[in-house]
Amino acid sequence: MTDLDGVGPRLTGLLEKLAGPHVVDLLWHLPSSLIDRRYTPKVAEAREGEIATLTVRVDRHQAPATKRQPYRIIVSDDTGFMTLVYFHARPDYLHRILPEGETRVVSGRMEDFGGARQMPHPDHVGTLEDIDDVKRVEPVYPLTAGLSTKVLGRAVAGALERIPDLAEWQDPAWKQQQGWADWATALRAAHAPGEAADLEPTAPARQRLAFDELLANQLALALVRRSMKRAKGRSMKGDGHLREKALAALPFALTGAQATAVDEVVADMADPSAMLRLLQGDVGSGKTAVALLAILNAVECGAQAALMAPTEVLARQHLATLEPFLDGLGLRVALLTGREKGKPRQALLADLEAGAIHLAVGTHALFQDDVAFHDLGLAVIDEQHRFGVHQRLTLAGKGHGVDVLVMTATPIPRTLMLTAYGDMDVSRLLEKPPGRQPVKTVTLPLDRLDEIVQAVGRALEAGTRVYWVCPLVEDSETSDLAAAEERHAHLKGLFGDRVGLVHGRLKGAEKDAAMADFAEGRTSVLVATTVIEVGVDVPEATVMVVEHAERFGLAQLHQLRGRIGRGAGASTCLLAYAPPLGETARARLSILRQTDDGFRIAEEDLRLRGAGELLGTRQSGLPEFRLADLAVHGDLLAAARDDSALILNRDPDLAGDRGRALRTLLYLFERDAAVRLLRSG
Ligand code: ADP
Ligand code: MG
Repeated sequence: MTDLDGVGPRLTGLLEKLAGPHVVDLLWHLPSSLIDRRYTPKVAEAREGEIATLTVRVDRHQAPATKRQPYRIIVSDDTGFMTLVYFHARPDYLHRILPEGETRVVSGRMEDFGGARQMPHPDHVGTLEDIDDVKRVEPVYPLTAGLSTKVLGRAVAGALERIPDLAEWQDPAWKQQQGWADWATALRAAHAPGEAADLEPTAPARQRLAFDELLANQLALALVRRSMKRAKGRSMKGDGHLREKALAALPFALTGAQATAVDEVVADMADPSAMLRLLQGDVGSGKTAVALLAILNAVECGAQAALMAPTEVLARQHLATLEPFLDGLGLRVALLTGREKGKPRQALLADLEAGAIHLAVGTHALFQDDVAFHDLGLAVIDEQHRFGVHQRLTLAGKGHGVDVLVMTATPIPRTLMLTAYGDMDVSRLLEKPPGRQPVKTVTLPLDRLDEIVQAVGRALEAGTRVYWVCPLVEDSETSDLAAAEERHAHLKGLFGDRVGLVHGRLKGAEKDAAMADFAEGRTSVLVATTVIEVGVDVPEATVMVVEHAERFGLAQLHQLRGRIGRGAGASTCLLAYAPPLGETARARLSILRQTDDGFRIAEEDLRLRGAGELLGTRQSGLPEFRLADLAVHGDLLAAARDDSALILNRDPDLAGDRGRALRTLLYLFERDAAVRLLRSG
């Protein structure tokens, strides 16, 4: 950045914060609105409140009598006069840009001050020669504190001047059909909106740039996927003896959807190329049983399996679910999280490397360098959207041709799934286990808290267990925690020791203890922050209260609600909100009342919020787009997917003319890791 004219270190810091570290990031920082300076009235006809560009003679500077008064400059044309008004003025500077007796072009907002025309702090002052530069539509950029429109505009202009001449990476026929300009022209156009329509994501220049970004994304994913598929896979075809025993030991019969998913997974594993399959099933749809059978298939073949969860709570829960089955089959399972340390950890790692452990359940700790497997054949990754592509590759890299099964409870709409995984194979558990009753969802204002508490009291009397979820307080983990602690104290005062508390700040062991107390019925109310969002399984819990439900996202509320309605009993979810509700929050809560279909909810969420926020992309490893808006550019995404397949079909090594241009595109979007795959692949 510093090599841009007039951009020093301080400015570089601000620009990086705003846009990103490279000059090209600045080019992708597109205007969000515009100011039209083409209105050039005479002084007497300039309308109050409008942005006007006027050509005037500078008549006289009028220094203020006291410090509190502004500095005034009287200017005029042949129709009348007006005043330019400056607070905290530097007179020498003003004399330099507005010398008395000269003609100047000024642009700014017209105001009326007690019947007199004035323009406070003109945005632009220039000579007659500058008029064409001033009298135009000016882009307005999203800003960050400390950065003005003017300074940012100048930096962007500098970056635009330096756009290199790059070979076209888009297919010429497609480009022509869309009526798109080349990259450089599209960039310049996107930064020079002439009217409001040019700011829309549907404007041709913006579409072209969005498609570039989506194509880079899809191409990179296709390359990753290809290299995983190419990695010498192995054919794992177990004889079924372990699976048979496990199926007999399960307290239920698989649903049709589960059986189909198991068949698909087993077929993938038997195939010599590495599996890359997503198991998508709404909360409570029974993904764990599918994973268990996949794991046993690997073990039947003499291989090891790893099961990775995003949190320690979840890892422990998986362990608790799976261990009885594996024990019964004479298999060894071990837990590996950040908490296993020292000698026990060393012993565990040694057993893992020797192949004495059949399944390792854990968190990110499974990625660590010193974790080695004797023969890792299958990696199951739960709640994948919290892990990045990189982490997925690292785990797969701990074996040869490792089969990867990704499980997600977040119903990812097709559009988002494409951007996150490319064309991954997908098994869906659309059918829920039998006997489930839909959760009754009620919304009510927080000022009826007393009624809610009474309802909880009645539920407890009836022997039920209750989740009480406390709100997320923006930007402040501390107050988030304080709210939960306060509610805990309040409920404890009413219901005594039956009330437990769990939140993200607790130590691992404390968290486990709190969860275990609730799961085993020593506590019957669990006050929690969103740590319970994913995966926790306590079938006896049939009531959930969510405080300040309006602060949660739709997908998040759906996830939370999925913690109840897991057993045979009827369940109720109370969404308590602080009125008045905004339009979006109202829509969210009403969707939740209407349906518990995760796919519908996810699609609605995408519509209401746009993709960026949907899955909390920032922590998730899901790509964040800067130019593409998935709520609008879904068609372009599909086209980019098809195009990238075609490209790799025709030119697998990206060695042709277009291929080389496409490598540049990948570099531009920092997907060069994908380019490296080309080299090694
Ligand atoms: P999720 O897909 O959310 O991970 P789980 O695998 O935790 O769901 O399963 C949710 C609950 O449903 C568990 O208590 C599990 O024992 C139960 N379950 C799973 N499959 C079936 C089935 N086919 N019939 C009855 N209950 C099932
Ligand atoms: Mg689960």
